[in-house]
Amino acid sequence: MRIVVGHLYPEYLNIYADRGNIAVLERRAAWRGVELEVRSIGLGDPLRPGEHDLLYVGGGQDREQALIAPDLAARGEAIRDAVAGGAVVLAVCGGYQLLGRLYRDRAGVELPGAGLFPHETIAGEQRMIGDVLLECELDQVGRRTLAGFENHAGRTLLDDGAEPLGRVIAGFGNDGASGREGCRVGRAIGTYLHGPLLPRNPWLADWLLAQALAHRRGGDAEPLPPLADELEEQAHAVAAERARSRGGGRAR
Ligand code: GLN
Repeated sequence: MRIVVGHLYPEYLNIYADRGNIAVLERRAAWRGVELEVRSIGLGDPLRPGEHDLLYVGGGQDREQALIAPDLAARGEAIRDAVAGGAVVLAVCGGYQLLGRLYRDRAGVELPGAGLFPHETIAGEQRMIGDVLLECELDQVGRRTLAGFENHAGRTLLDDGAEPLGRVIAGFGNDGASGREGCRVGRAIGTYLHGPLLPRNPWLADWLLAQALAHRRGGDAEPLPPLADELEEQAHAVAAERARSRGGGRAR
């Protein structure tokens, strides 16, 4: 069994060890006898319908975002079609912003987004930096916490009725005020959490893998056989505690 991952713009959007997320997916898949094949998608490369079980977009600063935004926006329909067809997306930070409708930087310059997530992002004066802890409730895994680190000036405003990834327990989240973090559309997840995200949140890595396998096989996702995650759980507990004790406060 094989999962095909499309890694969008790895040479531009990679500032928060985003490759670490892919490494976690690769390893946890291999431990279940599943091969993860990662294909880079650069500027102008084709995005063929149905080719990828999972699309990954990492984080980057405004400069890198501006370089890839027109290319990503032009792929909007292809990405929305892929998600409508059950493909998985994980988008982190800068990639999460650009999968919305638009990103407006501090100078007022607007970058077009791919229009997958129902949100817009406007850069604010104060950066939102710090450890962050969320409570999420994704189908099949019940209520779980997600721990990570955030560093963004953009404030992401979800449309009415949009589904966030989670509720902020500690930290800033989408905008430092709404108590919401990330966004979810079908099997697509966008979030500000990096660090990287998946090593200390193995349950999310497994959720993504299970959904990607369901895309490949057809039908509903089935939970993966559990792994011995003592170290990962410890990493999660340390990060969660750090967020609780000194996570970013609310933005002013
Ligand atoms: N433009 C982004 C910001 O809000 C960059 C986010 C990121 O990937 N660090 O700062």
